Amino acid sequence: MSQEGDFLVEARDVVLSFGQTPALRGADISAVRGEILAVTGPSGSGKSTLLHCLAGILVPDSGEIRFDGRRIDTRSEAERSALRRDRFGFVFQFGQLVPELTAEENVALPLLLAKSRRAGALAEARSWFGRLGLDGLEGRRSGELSGGQAQRVALARALVSRPEVLFADEPTGSLDSLTGEHVLDLLATSVREEGTTVVLVTHEPRVAAYAHREVVVRDGKATPLYLERPVA
Ligand code: ADP
Ligand code: MG
Repeated sequence: MSQEGDFLVEARDVVLSFGQTPALRGADISAVRGEILAVTGPSGSGKSTLLHCLAGILVPDSGEIRFDGRRIDTRSEAERSALRRDRFGFVFQFGQLVPELTAEENVALPLLLAKSRRAGALAEARSWFGRLGLDGLEGRRSGELSGGQAQRVALARALVSRPEVLFADEPTGSLDSLTGEHVLDLLATSVREEGTTVVLVTHEPRVAAYAHREVVVRDGKATPLYLERPVA
């Protein structure tokens, strides 16, 4: 077990309401470096809201969010935005590729936003295509990709800047189960190779099986499930 303070990402007693709707009612969650943490629970329980708080997208009404030991919920939007750009990666349910860009331009986007030179960013982006079984798809636009291909492109885009934390919200939710397994295998392999910490939101038990640890969210509160697998 880790000592307090060893956590890479941490939420303590987080409360957040959308108007009259309470989404989080004192949620606690934390992940150590290098672990895949699954966040499970029924639809509407607060999983996405908790993920968005951990990632500095939403600021809670009360409670504390820490990244690498430091509060982030007290920082400005500009500081949180820079943190997201430089140290976090994101994958969402429907990949959310930019339709006007090719697959390789989509993957290169985080590097370009961080002001890398275009040629270098595209070369780095291309190096992910082979790793994720996407060879030959570099020039396609999102409308010319299958759901599983698009989600692997989204995974490459999330990993290309070598984030310390990958936040994934129902990343296989739009895929059939076999395609979903393939995407998860690639995610698990890539993060193991890179030492990435992953916070993986899902309502599917088979997805949670990829995690080292699982936390269940119900009615805006998070409870750890003691099914710990050691971090490889
Ligand atoms: P989950 O991801 O577990 O399905 P969410 O975190 O999306 O749950 O939602 C938690 C609660 O907050 C739900 O009652 C949901 O309807 C509400 N909620 C989430 N996002 C918003 C929003 N932008 N505006 C209003 N209510 C929201
Ligand atoms: Mg959700």
